[in-house]
Amino acid sequence: MTIEQWGVRVPARQGEETRQALIREGALDASLKVLRDGDMLILPILSEQKGADRFTFEAHPGRDPLLRHELVGGIAILQEDDMAGAEKILASRPSLHTVVYAKGEVSGEYRTREFTILAGKPTTRTQVTEHGHRFIIDLAGAYFSARLSTERQRILEMVQDGEVVLDMFAGVGPFAITLAARAALVVAADLNPQAVGLMLENLAQNRARNVLPLLADARHLAGILPWQFDRIVMNLPLSGTEFLPDAFRLCRQGGTIHFYALVSAEGEHTARIQELGGTVLAEREVRSYSPGQWHAVYDVWTG
Ligand code: SAM
Repeated sequence: MTIEQWGVRVPARQGEETRQALIREGALDASLKVLRDGDMLILPILSEQKGADRFTFEAHPGRDPLLRHELVGGIAILQEDDMAGAEKILASRPSLHTVVYAKGEVSGEYRTREFTILAGKPTTRTQVTEHGHRFIIDLAGAYFSARLSTERQRILEMVQDGEVVLDMFAGVGPFAITLAARAALVVAADLNPQAVGLMLENLAQNRARNVLPLLADARHLAGILPWQFDRIVMNLPLSGTEFLPDAFRLCRQGGTIHFYALVSAEGEHTARIQELGGTVLAEREVRSYSPGQWHAVYDVWTG
């Protein structure tokens, strides 16, 4: 039987060392065989991570393949309501405390999903480690996507020491806390009280002392914030366009806006950005959303 799964490509001489590290992290998909491609090995992993790609693997004969699932901290998320499958997943890895079924899609103003607990501890709260930061999240209470970790690092590399940054849709704070390492001040707003509550916990446990959390609707920020920002992060891909004029008002001339949007054609939002006085420095695909649609990020210069 062949199965499509995430895989990481490593030189064959580093294969065993990487395999052991993936086992320790609970990330290796042990139900699938390692692929060989010349001098490289492709190790099957249970969820997307930096540098991973999709590959077709052969299942180990006699090893019951685990149901397809995504790992977020100590929680495995299934797309199927299968309690027996969930128990098997829970037993397969000591780092897991809960297995849930994702009942619906991400929806509503807070961008959250509904889950049913299938196995383990009855909670949707867990902790995720990302590039040296620890984020407490609650899958049902506030948005969080581990798939954006590479994107957060990409933006961090662009931040100059001492910048004043605004995260208009901050969730539990992963962008804000990441960028705070270089910025002088990060203002982080969200209108979901649970997200802001978790952000406070995350600020404390990551000792981020230069982030100002705000329980606020981004519609009001231009009216209440006394600063103009060097950089603005706008991570609300489905309806961020509505907030672009406010972002331009809040950004200093010559600043940068990272605008995330759902698109079905390259350049879809360029004309609107130019109309507001911005220049698109780069447009990149962040991740696919549905056939023919993807999340893109526009890096915009407000010169
Ligand atoms: N940036 C965070 C991250 O990467 O985990 C969260 C991004 S999530 C796609 C969008 C967030 O925007 C949600 O937490 C939601 O509650 C918040 N939100 C939606 N509408 C908003 C508004 N009008 N003002 C402030 N926050 C808003």
